Amino acid sequence: MEEKTAVKKVYKKMPRKKVCAFCQEKVSEIDYKDVNRLKKYVTEGGKIVPRRMSGTCAAHQKKVANAIKRARIAALLPFKGE
Ligand SMILES: [Zn+2]
Repeated sequence: MEEKTAVKKVYKKMPRKKVCAFCQEKVSEIDYKDVNRLKKYVTEGGKIVPRRMSGTCAAHQKKVANAIKRARIAALLPFKGE
């Protein structure tokens, strides 16, 4: 009995398939100066949001990570949250 409800719960909790926002917009290059966009992919602690949470595809996640690193160097984003 308990098992059945557990399975049901897991099924209900299944997150919706997220589509990569950059693929949707057909963005090929991510500008590191686009801080407002990059902020969505950085946690409050200043970490880069993992792919499984942001739904970004591997190719774009790589570009996002690079853009964030550049933005940090340009002091547009913090290395660590205060
Ligand atoms: Zn993508």
